[in-house]
Amino acid sequence: MRVWTSLPLVLFAAPMTGLAATVVHCGQLIDVAAGEIRREATVIVEDATIARVAPGYLPAAVDDEVVDLRTHTCMPGLMDMHVHLSAEQSERTDVERARLNPVDHAYRSVVYAHKTLLSGFTTVRDLGAGANVNIALRNAINQGLIPGPRIYTSGRSIATTGGHADPTNGLRADLVRPPTPEDGVINSAADARRAVRQRYKDGADLIKITATGGVLSVAASGKNPQFTVEEIRAIVDTARDYGFHVAAHAHGAEGIKRAVVGGVTSIEHGTFLDDEGIRLMKKHGTWLVPTIIAGKWVGEKAEVEGFFPDIIRPKAREVGPQIQSTFAKAYEAGVKIAFGTDSGVSAHGDNAREFEYMVEAGMPPLAAIRAATLAGATLLGVADTLGTLEPGKLADIVAVPADPTADISVMSRVSFVMKDGKIYKRPEAPVATLSGR
Ligand SMILES: [Zn+2]
Repeated sequence: MRVWTSLPLVLFAAPMTGLAATVVHCGQLIDVAAGEIRREATVIVEDATIARVAPGYLPAAVDDEVVDLRTHTCMPGLMDMHVHLSAEQSERTDVERARLNPVDHAYRSVVYAHKTLLSGFTTVRDLGAGANVNIALRNAINQGLIPGPRIYTSGRSIATTGGHADPTNGLRADLVRPPTPEDGVINSAADARRAVRQRYKDGADLIKITATGGVLSVAASGKNPQFTVEEIRAIVDTARDYGFHVAAHAHGAEGIKRAVVGGVTSIEHGTFLDDEGIRLMKKHGTWLVPTIIAGKWVGEKAEVEGFFPDIIRPKAREVGPQIQSTFAKAYEAGVKIAFGTDSGVSAHGDNAREFEYMVEAGMPPLAAIRAATLAGATLLGVADTLGTLEPGKLADIVAVPADPTADISVMSRVSFVMKDGKIYKRPEAPVATLSGR
């Protein structure tokens, strides 16, 4: 009884912080909409929202907290449009597919989500996990139980029998039951509608399909088309009823075209995208989420003896080296690009390496940062609340300790992370100011 009566006293004793603001002094601030860098700016944050962005270092009121980022470059919270927060590839993955339970993945996802947030990614799209671990993870983060990025998730991916996301591929037949549309395996337009509606029931935010073969599934082809246009249309049309957009994993040229014509919102990877595919993507306004780092990673691991099962190795060798040059060609041609890594293939927290690969392929640094902020927000349909540093938007702010237009690799050294107005990471120690003063 004493314990219960003391509780309200503690609550009343807590300071009323509602009126105090956080005043962030930025040595540089990236205006991703204009594609410009401003020098010496202040961002004032009240609760979870950006109240004001002004030139110069504005003074703070007595109760305000000042964050000194005068030697740093501020930008909107980074957005990765392709992660898998419930797993991470290793040489043990093949065995773990048979041994780990969803709850094992759930515990791991807590760690991976935290790493992702601390590396500056305040919003991610999670494109597939077994047992809807990603939906439970999203809910726990939204409830403030654990730290992590804001998650938009597909729940379980949707594949066809033997397709890239068929969860029973390569498993001993007598130990598994035939997968259903609820599990994510469809073989008709009717199955497709049923699978989409199940994801609505599960609490997903969007739909993910695997339109072609993939590298890391236990199956022969990394690029064959695996859905009919009719099945894709059934998915897209049903998804629209529930306010879902559709993300399509696709490597092969034919499967990419079917997905684009079928009306998906984004093509993930796009490895063997051809000229006709580029033309169709531009015509339909389809996004490309390149995931170059995933290609680099599988290409590298394919050369390590015994890392992958034999059936995966030749696919990794073929797909890996191609992704970056396809990205370069698509960007040059004017295809819409949103930043994405497929992290969970490469390690969570290494997401920002993708910036280096994008810039290496010919994308200017500010365009790459825009792809990871405003473009992501636009793809998700949330550009009214995220993606730029503007009054009224959610206070997702990150900073790096140098100028990323001079050295893009500094994106891997994020020094400050704020999400929804709450600070998760601060610079370790102040050093000389950018201007030398
Ligand atoms: Zn993926």
